[in-house]
Amino acid sequence: MARIVMKFGGTSMAGIERIRSVAARVKREWQAGNQVAVVVSAMAGETDRLVGFCREASSLYDPREYDVVVSAGEQVTSGLLAIALQAIGVPARSWLGWQLPVHTSDAHASARIEGIDTQALDASLAQGEVAVIPGFQGVADSGRVTTLGRGGSDTSAVAVAAAMKADRCDIYTDVDGVYTTDPRIVPRARKLKRVTYEEMLELASVGAKVLQTRSVGLAMKEGVRVQVLSSFVDGPAADTLPGTMIVGEEEIEDVERQLITGIAHDKNEAKITLVEVPDRPGAVAAIFGPLAEANINVDVIVQNVAHATGSTDVTFTVPGAELTRALDVLQKAQVSIGYNKLVHDSRVSKISIVGVGMRSHAGVAATMFKTLGERGINILAIATSEIKVSVLIHEDETELAVRLLHTAYGLDAEEAAA
Ligand code: ADP
Ligand code: ASP
Ligand code: MG
Repeated sequence: MARIVMKFGGTSMAGIERIRSVAARVKREWQAGNQVAVVVSAMAGETDRLVGFCREASSLYDPREYDVVVSAGEQVTSGLLAIALQAIGVPARSWLGWQLPVHTSDAHASARIEGIDTQALDASLAQGEVAVIPGFQGVADSGRVTTLGRGGSDTSAVAVAAAMKADRCDIYTDVDGVYTTDPRIVPRARKLKRVTYEEMLELASVGAKVLQTRSVGLAMKEGVRVQVLSSFVDGPAADTLPGTMIVGEEEIEDVERQLITGIAHDKNEAKITLVEVPDRPGAVAAIFGPLAEANINVDVIVQNVAHATGSTDVTFTVPGAELTRALDVLQKAQVSIGYNKLVHDSRVSKISIVGVGMRSHAGVAATMFKTLGERGINILAIATSEIKVSVLIHEDETELAVRLLHTAYGLDAEEAAA
């Protein structure tokens, strides 16, 4: 007997037919004698619809009420899956975030899970019941409902797996694993059998939305064995690992190692340039201090060559959804920062290459710049970390850039992915 968590994303839960097929898959694991907790997302598109209602009701909505609204999608699917399981003879019940409970911080709309009580869950599983848990939601100490940020059901699943000391956490989605890049953009992307926590963390944080970044960080910290696999193919059983396993670096064999493991893109960033900022100590702090106070995350930063006038241009990116707020903060701080002009552009895209192989090989970034340069793709800004290089380019060139780099680093599969 194993203890397993099965997580099903939005496309896997989109409609009663799909939910019946999920129920049948859950039944197979349960019939094999496993203790099973299932974490579900809202139906595809539902959370967007609910977010839209909040915005329509008021552009300055109360985040506590936003959480009440947007958490509703998962409440519906968890109840429906419990009904579908019961209908095929599987004892099942739903456990809403406040019922388990899933304790979170009070940062509404992006709360962090602080702990999950497993007493009731353990008792239910021990009786042979399947527990169906809505992802994405929890409860703060205040007793109010919270949500974990978009894509948060992955994090719910990993947190449940850690709390119940599960043997495996299987993330079922609409692709059959983690690929070298988004297979919807590059049909020649290759499926990875294994990827390290560290690389997956970087890939997720730079735009590979197959797993939410926080879920990978949590899995790494808690040592949860995560597998990404498809809910759409009736392939081999999940315990034969047909998908992609997220593993520690020591589990990757040398022959599997590539210089670059994956490429990701992110169109949701906006570029801001402050023209003619005084070139003196403290000038940069005067820009990023107020942005940090407003809780706006700044990503790629470039400080350009100083002008003869003793001033310099500073370029950086912020999440596209935060652009309006960032501009407001910067305009209010114009006098204290002392810049001359503010320019912004949201038609940019960030392309990143990720791989632990970068640590031991020189020239990896140079190949990226050369490949893009030869095709006339202009690089607007660059950022690097130990295992990642990101460049900012014009949004229209995203797909072309990803394809070119995929080929340049030898990642193309022999045959196009199905
Ligand atoms: P779910 O609703 O199941 O949580 P998501 O839409 O959040 O699914 O994530 C799955 C999607 O992630 C895929 O359909 C794919 O387009 C996208 N994706 C982006 N990068 C990758 C990658 N490197 N490997 C696999 N899928 C990726
Ligand atoms: N339904 C939520 C979202 O769309 C959470 C999730 O699906 O992971 O963001
Ligand atoms: Mg997702």
